[in-house]
Parts: sequence; structure tokens; C-alpha cells
Amino acid sequence: MSDKPIYVTQPHLPPLEDFLPYLQEIWDRRILTNGGPFHQQLEKALCDYLGVEHIALFANGTLALVTALQALRITGEVITTPYSFVATAHSLLWNGIKPVFVDIDPHSLNLDPRRIEAAITPQTTAILPVHCYGRPCDVEAIQRIADIYNLKVIYDAAHAFGVEDAGGSLLRHGDLSILSFHATKVFNTFEGGAIVCPDAKTKQRIDHLKNFGFVDEVTVVAPGINGKMSEINAALGLLQLQRVDGAIERRRQIDRRYRALLGGIPGIRCLPDSGEALANHAYFPILVEDDYPLARDGLYERLREENIYSRRYFYPLISDFPMYRGLPSAQRGNLAVAAEISSRILCLPIYPDLTDEQQLRVIDVLRGCSIPARTRSPSCANVPCA
Ligand SMILES: *Cc1c(COP(=O)(O)O)cnc(C)c1O
Repeated sequence: MSDKPIYVTQPHLPPLEDFLPYLQEIWDRRILTNGGPFHQQLEKALCDYLGVEHIALFANGTLALVTALQALRITGEVITTPYSFVATAHSLLWNGIKPVFVDIDPHSLNLDPRRIEAAITPQTTAILPVHCYGRPCDVEAIQRIADIYNLKVIYDAAHAFGVEDAGGSLLRHGDLSILSFHATKVFNTFEGGAIVCPDAKTKQRIDHLKNFGFVDEVTVVAPGINGKMSEINAALGLLQLQRVDGAIERRRQIDRRYRALLGGIPGIRCLPDSGEALANHAYFPILVEDDYPLARDGLYERLREENIYSRRYFYPLISDFPMYRGLPSAQRGNLAVAAEISSRILCLPIYPDLTDEQQLRVIDVLRGCSIPARTRSPSCANVPCA
């Protein structure tokens, strides 16, 4: 098999020569971190691009999550989804908070608002939903519950860079939203992250917390952490931001083509949108249903044999990892929808540099395997399409 490997994603990067002048500036200035000029410029540029008031940059999304919980002084129990990247729940454990898992909605694949109230106890202080795959949560229903029970809402918006609903940026919802600029995300700074916050006072508290709690040379007001983004990452962010619209546009084309060409394959289901007015196409999840000849893991293995590395996002569920599975809310009976989706989901390769030919290789495997075993060629892939 000589075809080059195709990964689920590949980081988007500008030409190296475009980055060199930024590096020269950093070398000349000798300001490497601690809120330097590129850091300040990127905060401003991101506010403009995303249409939000205040942003605090971080070294990564996980530190942003951990710090957001500190900033709002969240304690006790927090309601969250089992269907996410493990950092969502880990940020709670790092704060000594008990995660309470609530099942997801079968259509949005996000926290099901209809199940939240039953999970609220006197210890509940917040809700930590995830806009999974950049698909918007039911933000209004979640806010209604939060208002009734006086809970904070912190969105893990790590997948939701640039996503808009009918009213504008998805990041305006809740008390805080967290972004990740990890290499695998739609907008990357190698490593990086941010907290989106509604007011200047909260941003100031977050800025103190991400710098050890320092307010000035001699004053420390909180047990802060080192969450600062460096000037190199911030400079790269400025450059990446110039190209992100083009990157998302290319993702949109790939998304459309998958939908057009996978649409007729029995047992392969693409997800309809979830109310986004502007999507970012961060992922291309499909559900492998019972009328497909292979189960999800069989298809995953078949793709690997063809040098195509899809990913089972999100499997296993967070609630199945050893540090969570003993929780009452982690029990399978409580999370039936998440368990079902987790067993059927597969994320297909999508990234700006994926070529039409590479995409066709992926589609051909899915189509080839959809032909019942009796009539399938031994290697089941690359069967010509009708
Ligand atoms: C990527 C991701 C994170 C963590 O972000 P890092 O920048 O990698 O620390 C958190 N939550 C979700 C849902 C993610 O996908």
C-alpha cells in the first residue's frame, strides 16, 4: 500500500517566510512573554474577529478551563457532559470539584437541557457544557435553568472558534467561554487557548490568575497559576488569523462534498446542523448505523488498512475513564444516549490541505464497504461507484 497516510486532521500553517519578520521583531525587542506587544495585539484582533468584548489569552485551553473555574470561584458539584475531550472533566477534578454527568441530546450531541434539572443538588454551582464539534448547545434552555437555580455557565467552546448563531458569536453566551488553539483545532497557535469574558473586571481577575496572582511587583491577590501565552505563539496567532477565513471556507467545501457523496450510502449518517448560522466545520462526524455492513470499529480498522486514520471522537466516554467511572452519574443507565452515540461515531479527515483525491480515497472505502459481503471484492475498498 503506497498511498500516503491521511490523518483526521493536519495543522494549517502559513509559509515559514511570512513568520520570520515576526520572529525578528521578538528577537530585537527581547520581550518574550508576560503580556508583550504581540500578546496585546492578538487579544485585540481576536475580539474584533470573533465579535466579543474581552479575551484573555492562555498557554493552552486546559489552563483556560482550570482558571475559568477559579475565576468564578466554582466549588461543590458541576453538571457536565460525558461526551467530550477528557480535559473538560479533568478541569473540574483539578479544582476539587465533583463532576456530575448528564446525558446528551441525540440530535445536537450536546448536554440535554431536559435532563439537567434532575441532576441539580444543593451542592451544584455551575454547568459546564461543550459545543461539541462546534455545534451550538441549546444555550437558551441552559441559561433558563441556570437563572432559576442561580448557577454559573461556563462553555467549553474549544471546538467553536468563529461559530455564530442567529444572534452573532456563539461565544457571547454563558458567564465565560473557553477556546483552545491547539495544533488540531480550526485556529492554532501551536499550543494556546483563551477565555472569552463579558466584562473588564472579570478579565482583570483572569489576567491576575494566569500570572501567579500578581497585581503588581509586590502584590499577590490569589493563588494564581502560570497560564500565560508567549510572544511566539501570539505572533503566530496574528498571522494565522489573516488566513483563517480561507481555511474555514476550504473546510466548508470538504464538508459539502462529503455530504453529497456519502448521502446515498445506506447506514452512513451525516449530522444535520445544530442551529449554527455560521459553522466552522472543525470536524466531520458520521454515525455508522445497523444497516451498514461493518460496525464502527470494523470501518475504523478498514480505513486504517488503507492508511486513513479516522478518529473515534468521543470514545470512550469521559465517564468510563477510571477516575470517573465510580461516580453515580457515570453509570451507563444514566448516559444511554452518549453510550450509543459513542459506539457509532467516527470523525473523518477534514482539514484545509486535504485534497479532492485524498477525500475521494476516504469516500471510496466507505462506499466499497457498503456493498454486502457476498458481492464485495476481497479487499472491499476501491469498488467503483455506480
Ligand atoms: C482541545 C480541547 C480541550 C483542551 O484544549 P488544549 O488547548 O489542548 O489544552 C478542551 N476541551 C475540548 C472539548 C477540546 O477539544
